Amino acid sequence: MKDFTTMGLSPALLKAIQELGFETPTPVQSKVIPIFLKSDRDLVALAQTGTGKTAAYGLPLLQLTDASKFETQGLILCPTRELCLQIVKDLNSFAKHTRGVRTLAVYGGSPIGEQIRALSRGAHIIVATPGRMHDMLRRQRADLSLVRWVVLDEADEMMNMGFQEEMEAILGAVPESARTLLFSATMPRQVAAMAGKYMENPEEILCGSRNSGSDTIRHECYKVHARDRYVALKRIMDSTPGLYAIIFCRTRVETQELAHHLNKDGYHADALHGDMTQDQRSEVMGAFRARHLQILVATDVAARGLDVNELTHVIHYNLPDEVELYTHRSGRTGRAGREGTSIVLIHYREEQKLRMIERILKKPFLQKRVPSGRDVCESQLANILEKVRQVDTADGRLEPFMPVIDKVLAELSREEVLKRFILLDFDRFLTNYKDAPDLNAAMSHGSYGGHETGDRRGARRPEGRLDRPGRVDRPDRSDRSDRPDQAERGERPAFRPRDPDIAKLRINLGRRNSLTPPDLMALINRATPGPQLRLGRIHVTEHASFFEMSRQDAERVMPALNRITHAGREVQVVMETAQPPPGKRRREDLPRRDGG
Ligand code: AMP
Repeated sequence: MKDFTTMGLSPALLKAIQELGFETPTPVQSKVIPIFLKSDRDLVALAQTGTGKTAAYGLPLLQLTDASKFETQGLILCPTRELCLQIVKDLNSFAKHTRGVRTLAVYGGSPIGEQIRALSRGAHIIVATPGRMHDMLRRQRADLSLVRWVVLDEADEMMNMGFQEEMEAILGAVPESARTLLFSATMPRQVAAMAGKYMENPEEILCGSRNSGSDTIRHECYKVHARDRYVALKRIMDSTPGLYAIIFCRTRVETQELAHHLNKDGYHADALHGDMTQDQRSEVMGAFRARHLQILVATDVAARGLDVNELTHVIHYNLPDEVELYTHRSGRTGRAGREGTSIVLIHYREEQKLRMIERILKKPFLQKRVPSGRDVCESQLANILEKVRQVDTADGRLEPFMPVIDKVLAELSREEVLKRFILLDFDRFLTNYKDAPDLNAAMSHGSYGGHETGDRRGARRPEGRLDRPGRVDRPDRSDRSDRPDQAERGERPAFRPRDPDIAKLRINLGRRNSLTPPDLMALINRATPGPQLRLGRIHVTEHASFFEMSRQDAERVMPALNRITHAGREVQVVMETAQPPPGKRRREDLPRRDGG
């Protein structure tokens, strides 16, 4: 295996990547860095996002740039503003100990005047989106006549977004002698054609097979009736504690509706789609990156700029219209050496499409059964038990309170105390999934299945399920779980205030801050002296917790909690109010600390 130190990189760059914690080069880095540094050939690299390709081209580009010549020598084109900013950020961190190289981001959706002024001050390396770069060229605000290296990052994405013309115009404005390096996750016809037209005998590098997905991703498929898609999704999510995922939908309306329903059902989800303003998009992405949101429901286009390495899952609520997009979507998980799972929810008419995707991936889908109610409860219980196992009591924080605890619980046996503590968190799952029916649809004999699953006989539709014949693939607006009488029965939301006088509050502390339900109770009592407050359900998640109390008490508790710190963190509590209209959410929903 190659080592960064043997690749010909300068000590300044080696020092920077060591500080970034890069120990071993990724496959694309092992292949690209030596070629970029030591040969003059053009290069085509098939590499997914998240494989370390920014460093693969960025490190040599920084090394070869002559900072003493004040001219633009490198141009990197990429599909989105977010990626553009990410690349500049990465380049700047690689160049931390390299003197004098100036980089500049040029992208759409931001006032052009400022970027024109920045361009006039000059930059050695420009990182740009094709639309804005083309605009700059038309306005004669950019001089690319001395460019020596052009990098096309995510070339297939730029094509998909309709930037072919702009890319060609830009490539026409750089000297013929410039070296071109093209990076793409897939190799559709137009990308191959562009490589043929603008590159000379390029060196081809394959990191993973052509058009195939990453090896760190498991591909799983759940076959359900279209009307059960939403309930199946919730089951899958509920049986996966720790899930941090993007759910892909095909249209803006679907993302809004699904995010809206998930929120209503107690999940921390928001929509990301192309009709949002840049500020709204940034806000949602920021909340997702900071893990205030557990789930992002996105369209293909909107998710393009999002770079998050820790996603545990990508879920395809609908298969993409173009099978090639599947690789892009699923490539958002299993990044930077982590394992990830790509989950597809299909109905029987989509089996053909699934096989096409399998052929592209050169991998079969693992056919999974939608978890039963009992499966969900078992995984939640295991999660709770594991959390209990990991609670550290050794430091004696609880000792001063033991006499009170002993006194109050004296009449209960050990077994009874255990049961009650477990039920604090577990009860809602037992209730939600009581009598939950089998949701698995019959799977035909295919490469990904081959066996009949699910017993539909006697399967009863649970109350509160979203269902409306004819609008099969999306949650129904007339969601019956809105009605309190039915919402109380069957597969009802995981967490939702049941009474208008009960407020649901969200606190920015969770398991990550070692918060447990008793801690939360103690915290609330500490912040609000006086008679003890009555708490409803408490739900602790990784990054935040939720609890119920009367609205009257909530008005008193919120300002008190918002003044204190816990485990070195400023406490932020917000009331989870009625759902704002889809698409307008998060701004008012995000944790905010007035005057803090
Ligand atoms: P990229 O594909 O360039 O977006 O990189 C994906 C992620 O992997 C980024 O967060 C990089 O910081 C990280 N990364 C890149 N190269 C390495 C490496 N050799 N070792 C560890 N992490 C890396």
